[in-house]
Amino acid sequence: MLNVPSQAFPAPGSQQRVASQGRSKVPLKQGRSLMDWIRLTKSGKDLTGLKGRLIEVTEEELKTHNKKDDCWICIRGLVYNVSPYMEYHPGGEDELMRAAGADGTDLFNEVHRWVNYESMLKECLVGRMAVKPAVPKGLSHEVQENFSVRVIENVGKVDIVLQKRENISWKCLGEPLEKHDSFIPKKDTGLSYRRCQLISKEDVTHDTRLFCLMLPPSTHLQVPIGHHVYLKLSVTGAEIVKPYTPVSASLLSGFREPVSSPNKYIYFLIKIYPDGLFTPELDRLQIGDCVSVSSPEGDFKLSKLQEVEDLFLLAAGTGFTPMVNVLNYALTCMPSLRKVKLIFFNKTEDDIIWRCQLEKLAFKDKRFDTEFILSAPSPEWNGKQGHVSPALLSEFLQRSLENSRVFLCICGPTPFTDEGIRLLHDLNFSNDEIHGFTA
Ligand code: FAD
Ligand code: NAD
Repeated sequence: MLNVPSQAFPAPGSQQRVASQGRSKVPLKQGRSLMDWIRLTKSGKDLTGLKGRLIEVTEEELKTHNKKDDCWICIRGLVYNVSPYMEYHPGGEDELMRAAGADGTDLFNEVHRWVNYESMLKECLVGRMAVKPAVPKGLSHEVQENFSVRVIENVGKVDIVLQKRENISWKCLGEPLEKHDSFIPKKDTGLSYRRCQLISKEDVTHDTRLFCLMLPPSTHLQVPIGHHVYLKLSVTGAEIVKPYTPVSASLLSGFREPVSSPNKYIYFLIKIYPDGLFTPELDRLQIGDCVSVSSPEGDFKLSKLQEVEDLFLLAAGTGFTPMVNVLNYALTCMPSLRKVKLIFFNKTEDDIIWRCQLEKLAFKDKRFDTEFILSAPSPEWNGKQGHVSPALLSEFLQRSLENSRVFLCICGPTPFTDEGIRLLHDLNFSNDEIHGFTA
């Protein structure tokens, strides 16, 4: 879109109406008004002389285009051939010539900040300034530590917004680092680790804790829903690595997609096995100690949930962890959803993770419902008991409508997951309708 002026154009006090600091508007020749310029840009005429080709312009080349009939100007990193615009420029040719063959960003910011030159001179675009190889690698100036990242998952676009540390004009962006602008297949990237600090540790059940880790400054780690990371600790001199699935801090805090600000904290629900290798060591960490956290891995595809109406989550023990974010996502971001049912298998009542939160959530959101099934209940338990079985599954996997589009997630100890998937096939659910979280 061109920068078409509004009714109030030129705005009161704008450079088009008044001469500030002694600067005058020059009278334009007949047929050289803004509307004439707009007409010319829309005429399809080659205004750059490059037949639509965009080139990389070096500083040396820019300098050579410094005459009225061959005048290039760099504005905000983009180079324009402004010769065709000369006669249309309200400030006059001489003013434009002040930036001929040079970087005119400061000049334009000073005088024409309100003008959207990117669109006004779109048809005069010659190309981009070439990055100077002599500049040290990376950005040419410092940026602030806090930045924002926006991930638009359905198109695979990632916007990173960096703020300058000093509010000055940058002559160039510096030289891109190695692998800039290249896509590396995930399988070839390997895992990268960052050291995170333990911020808090809270008991959730008698043997399961909620760990909160803080990411190092300037780190952006976004773990896709249903994916896991690896935690790494040194145990008696050896590096031990185990997979864990990040969760939201609570089921009731509501789901927020990490759209702009980078998440500073990452949470894990982890069961401590007293005779285990890794978890007792993790449990011994003091607040302020560090643990390494890897980049994410996993094969769960959110696209599988598209158009799903009934979602069944079958979890056993800490196999509940991948269900947390799936559940949050389903209740907040799936307009097609009618029903989510969590069928949660545990040994005893004391082992049920976030029982109270699950019950509150079921009360709050009528689409959600949970069923606890215990394999080693106390005599007082009057709920369901047993292991995963055909009878239990056919009782609980009821569709909200006969032909509802359904999806099932299952996670827990390997024998539980294997047996569960086998039984789901027996119940005529297809592979496309099931995701098993496995090691
Ligand atoms: P281990 O040393 O592995 O021992 C665990 C238990 O098994 C102990 O009771 C031990 O005595 C017993 N054991 C060990 N070896 C044997 C053997 N050969 N025969 C019989 N018993 C044995 N866990 C969570 O708590 N939270 C999560 O979010 C989570 N996410 C996971 C995600 C993925 C993708 C996977 C694969 C696993 C996940 N786990 C999660 C499990 C986690 O990775 C560890 O397996 C778990 O924490 C145990 O680690 P450990 O080293 O402390 O125990
Ligand atoms: P647990 O020993 O407390 O058992 C929980 C329930 O699982 C039991 O009550 C029972 O109903 C069922 N179960 C256990 N053994 C079974 C068997 N042999 N056959 C059928 N059902 C069985 O569970 P836990 O100690 O919390 O272990 C959770 C498991 O989940 C771990 O093995 C962990 O690795 C796995 N996990 C996997 C992922 C993943 O993404 N792949 C994520 C988190 C946890």
